[in-house]
Amino acid sequence: MKFDFTNKTVLITGGSRGIGAVTAKLFAEAGAQVAFTYAGNLEAAEHTLNALGAGNHAFFQLDLADPTSISNLFQRFSERYDRLDILVNNAAVHLPHKILETDFENWQDSWSQTLHANLLGPANMCYFASKIMVPQQSGKIINISSRGAFRGEPENPAYGASKAGINSMSQSLALVLAPHNISVHIIAPGYVSTEMAADKLEGESGEAIKQQSPFGRVAEPEEVARLVAVYASEGMEFTSGGITDINGASYLRS
Ligand code: NAP
Repeated sequence: MKFDFTNKTVLITGGSRGIGAVTAKLFAEAGAQVAFTYAGNLEAAEHTLNALGAGNHAFFQLDLADPTSISNLFQRFSERYDRLDILVNNAAVHLPHKILETDFENWQDSWSQTLHANLLGPANMCYFASKIMVPQQSGKIINISSRGAFRGEPENPAYGASKAGINSMSQSLALVLAPHNISVHIIAPGYVSTEMAADKLEGESGEAIKQQSPFGRVAEPEEVARLVAVYASEGMEFTSGGITDINGASYLRS
């Protein structure tokens, strides 16, 4: 699949590792200027930046759970780039907090951290992105959700709730931003082979997870990145508000 994002500026949260890093590389190879964020892993961010090759690429530190950090990000971003064509809300946290095994303090903490990073963070990213995209009268926002929003997340209920919230938020924003030629797309992966899922994908439990799909495997981050690029391409705006599953038929819904 060949993509051309020449002269496009892309901002990706969580580009230091996993799906975000592979997505950043795809956009850079397709000619885009790529800005991406990391939370704390500077080494990984530097590694990703090197992999992007020559071009006006940059990374910024960001704590999605902190609204001031997001506002600062957009200030620094706007000092370097004069437009924002594509926002990929990719970064998220995935904290275990089984209801029957977690004390109340940790339960509260997991819910608070998860909703702040995974739902309020992307909402604030969309807020600031719209301030750039509306005057441009163009833009594409791609929000990474999860199969867990539909299938349930028994060990990470706040994560499932945050992703269900992303779905609803994205659909609301799709309605209000469409008249400004801004589309909002939602991608819901099942398990993807990244560090986020690494623990679960090891050993016997990993084999059972792979068998959830009739393909007998989980997704590679490149497969998710390609889907992001498809929705970021010209001519896809009429799919705005839609949720696309990428889970190898491991969870089917109609
Ligand atoms: P990952 O490998 O764990 O990488 C997470 C990225 O997010 C890193 O770049 C990390 O930065 C950044 N990040 C973490 N906490 C942050 C915070 N508070 N503020 C800002 N950035 C933060 O994740 P992934 O597996 O690529 O997941 C990417 C997206 O796909 C997420 O939305 C996830 O929910 C979704 N997803 C993943 C799977 C899966 O099985 N992997 C399945 C369904 C959906 P540092 O490198 O600095 O820590």
